[in-house]
Amino acid sequence: MIIPKEPKLTKEQFEEVVSIVEEYGCRVQPIEGHHRTIYAVLGDERETIMVTRILGLDYIDRFDAVDTPFKLMDIKSELAHHKIKIGNIILGEAPFIIAGHCTIDPKNPNLFIESAHAMKEAGAAAIRGGVWKPRTMPYAFQGDDASMKILIESKEQTGLPVDTEVMDEHQLSIAVEAGVDILQIGARNALNYSLLKKVGQETADKQIAVLLKRSMGMGPVNEFIAASEYIAAGGNPDVMLCPRGTSPTMDGYRNYPDECITPLLKEKTWAPVIVDPSHSVGRAKYVPSAAMAAMAYGADGVIVESHCDPKKGIGDDPKQAITPDVLKKLIQDIHQIWEIRKHYKKELPVTV
Ligand code: PEP
Ligand code: MN
Repeated sequence: MIIPKEPKLTKEQFEEVVSIVEEYGCRVQPIEGHHRTIYAVLGDERETIMVTRILGLDYIDRFDAVDTPFKLMDIKSELAHHKIKIGNIILGEAPFIIAGHCTIDPKNPNLFIESAHAMKEAGAAAIRGGVWKPRTMPYAFQGDDASMKILIESKEQTGLPVDTEVMDEHQLSIAVEAGVDILQIGARNALNYSLLKKVGQETADKQIAVLLKRSMGMGPVNEFIAASEYIAAGGNPDVMLCPRGTSPTMDGYRNYPDECITPLLKEKTWAPVIVDPSHSVGRAKYVPSAAMAAMAYGADGVIVESHCDPKKGIGDDPKQAITPDVLKKLIQDIHQIWEIRKHYKKELPVTV
């Protein structure tokens, strides 16, 4: 819908608008009101160059698109009924809990394997473990290719799917080749469009899901969904959206908890929402509340850092990993919240 600055376009202005719009296969239909005339664009009004050219005309005030810009990820798209299956779970049909170390310690493979068994025993549906890590300081441990073997060993021993973060194309190809089931795109790369495109292309038709974290810079809901569109447009629609806290932080927490955007996401996209309470609050003692809040908001699951012996962990684990005992209780309570949510089927856009 094109809204001019003056109540009506002049004949010359109208002709100029029509000629631009027609170049993109669209038509213009004036809608005459009492005081002003607005101009509906019929056709695919998502053509960004067309919109930019119209907005560049000095007599135009606004261009309000009715169509969604998300051709694949929109809740009304052809993929609206697309289901993502990871391991034994179809997302949306049961809570999906990913749990495990922040970082795999390549010097202590047994610790990760022990945790992986404990995650399974606690009821997790997938295991996480950072092979490569985005660290604030270049001198901090950056991860190690050798940890991939440990991650895959945990998959073989438990039979559960595994998740790890990739930050570049080299890591992407190692992870795809090794058989990682869920590729995590971290908050720092959430808007790295070349990487998102590549991830979509390299994981297309390979039964690999992508967990896309929300950028920490308070990424607007539409920007977050648009980033997931890159992965789907690359060829892989198996994308989960992961709010993980934003900055500036809330005093006392690592980030600003943002699980509350879950219903807003669910109104716009069919993509499952898996919240990360661990990086959001950043302290093991706050994680259960944040995880339960996420589930109450309608999340399809959570990704939680958990470790069989947090003080022996590296990366974030000593401060924010919960123990398998706490994880087990939490997973039981998450199942209860899942049931309680059914009382609010109309209010919460959940698929239960
Ligand atoms: C992580 O999952 O360990 C991590 C680094 O996450 P984020 O990208 O959300 O900071
Ligand atoms: Mn971490």
